[in-house]
Amino acid sequence: ILLISTLIFSGVAFYLSRVMSKRAMIPIEQAFKRQQVFVADASHELRTPLSVMLSSLDILEMEDQHQNEVSTKMVGNLKEEVKRMTGLVGDLLTLARSDSDDQKISFEVFDLVPISQRAIDSFEAHAHTKNIQLELKSPASIQINGNIERLTQLLYILLDNAIKYSHDSSSISLSLWKESNLIFISVKDTGIGIAAKDLAHIFDRFYRVDKARTRHLGGHGLGLSIAKWIVDIHGGRINVESSVGEGSTFLVKIPYKDSL
Ligand code: ADP
Repeated sequence: ILLISTLIFSGVAFYLSRVMSKRAMIPIEQAFKRQQVFVADASHELRTPLSVMLSSLDILEMEDQHQNEVSTKMVGNLKEEVKRMTGLVGDLLTLARSDSDDQKISFEVFDLVPISQRAIDSFEAHAHTKNIQLELKSPASIQINGNIERLTQLLYILLDNAIKYSHDSSSISLSLWKESNLIFISVKDTGIGIAAKDLAHIFDRFYRVDKARTRHLGGHGLGLSIAKWIVDIHGGRINVESSVGEGSTFLVKIPYKDSL
């Protein structure tokens, strides 16, 4: 009798604990979902006032030119901060959407080479201000099955970082190649590099190495977490090899699949 009642008791306890934990999960999931929706909505709503602020500051800057040194400087600072915030809000929106399952991402087969050339061209002027050489090493064409917008964003994040964390008069190369059914994208710089203790964290949201020293470079620690999400949705992997003072190489591997 003791054995049977112990078995019944533990069976009932097990059943109850399963039911209770399922019940507890529902409000947690709902709260998480609500939080995602809130971040996405808030980010979306913030974009309009920010763009109004930026265009008003542009007008102020034009009208104020050469009239008052202090206000010209303040308008310049405000513009930088508004641009920084616009970038942050855009990144938050991307990540909030990446967390929700209902986001549709369309895939198509396209040539990665012209997309990469265009990304290099877009950064040419920025690189020029630091006298940095940008080069693309690739075959004439590489077909990939992916989302053009997101893969372009991935190239922009990696190139932007490479320039941001490079010394003046250095060089950066974007290389593309294919081995059997794997497509490789590598972005190599000879910049400040990343310490071994930080390597494990740089893909975490809001993680920045030495925040105080790099604040003036802009950025808010979301770029690489977005890059990782983009690689993930393409079924690929992203790795980094780096040594302090020598530079970093980010390597992306994406499998070529006829249908994703
Ligand atoms: P951020 O907006 O700060 O650049 P990211 O998520 O893109 O954010 O990168 C996270 C951190 O990783 C950066 O703050 C920087 O410390 C480091 N990092 C990223 N790319 C490089 C690079 N090419 N060279 C050196 N450090 C880098």
